[in-house]
Amino acid sequence: MDNSVKIRTIEGDIPVSEMGFTDSHDHIWKEGGMEVLKDPDFAIDCPEKSRRELLSFKEAGGQTIVDMQPLGVGRGIEPMRAIAKGTGVHVIAVTGFHKGSFYDKTHFVHRYEEDQITELVTAEVMEGIEVNDYCGPIVRRSPSKAGAVKCASGYYKITPLEEKLIRIASYSSVKSQAPVITHTQMGTMGLEQAQRIKSYGVEPEKICIGHLDRNPDPFLHEQVLREGVYVQYDCVARIKYHTVSETLQLIIRMDQKGYGDRLLIGGDWGRSSYLRAYGGAPGLDFIPGSFASQMIAYGVPEGLVHKIFYENPARFFGFIKET
Ligand SMILES: [Zn+2]
Repeated sequence: MDNSVKIRTIEGDIPVSEMGFTDSHDHIWKEGGMEVLKDPDFAIDCPEKSRRELLSFKEAGGQTIVDMQPLGVGRGIEPMRAIAKGTGVHVIAVTGFHKGSFYDKTHFVHRYEEDQITELVTAEVMEGIEVNDYCGPIVRRSPSKAGAVKCASGYYKITPLEEKLIRIASYSSVKSQAPVITHTQMGTMGLEQAQRIKSYGVEPEKICIGHLDRNPDPFLHEQVLREGVYVQYDCVARIKYHTVSETLQLIIRMDQKGYGDRLLIGGDWGRSSYLRAYGGAPGLDFIPGSFASQMIAYGVPEGLVHKIFYENPARFFGFIKET
């Protein structure tokens, strides 16, 4: 691990060696926005309950968590700062955008030029996250900066708006050096996302294709990994979609194909019904507290488990180089 490289957390930049056990995709706060309007179960909006979840993550051995809620869909940098303060958990916040259907025609993503939005996104990495997600004329930046850039597409298609937002995320990554993480719908369009983002100048090792395990097809995963990018398994133990064994077999198979250093895991427990403090299950502590040991019990080599939760996130999220 190169200790001169740092990750960008909401409490400042820290050396990659301090990152520790990392959940690469999760949620501690969502308040309002189209996702919550469509389904109120997506609301994660009680600071006290979110703090309890974060503390349970810490008690189970978790040290860093990436809150993947981007601009304009209920992200809240101020509540996030308050929730994380004093817990000892490093939180990485993101900028960029979710899938196009989450932005009403009145949102600025439809109205501003690509260059203008690229500047706004880049400023959230370089200067500070805008406390109101740029939803009004007054710009007030949090001391917290974004540590990654998100973009997304829908089921089997990339709309013209999503094309624009993917280019914006890519150019912001090139300018700021922050990594890009995507949302795929049911794992579709992952290969197309990887190829597009690369074509806009982002190095493959700075790209991570998300939710790919929603389509646990090893053929697809190999095609995507062949692009040199990371893939993220973040629907683990979501039994309504697929079994735990399927995910674990995928992990072992991708490692055997030589891609063990390109895998990241997150819980993506992005609904209140997934969080115990909100009355749901299994909770933010599941990944460090149960899933990591399930991997070992199943036969995933310990060295690979360590790579997935420590070394790979440190390499992927570390982008601040000391000068
Ligand atoms: Zn998510």
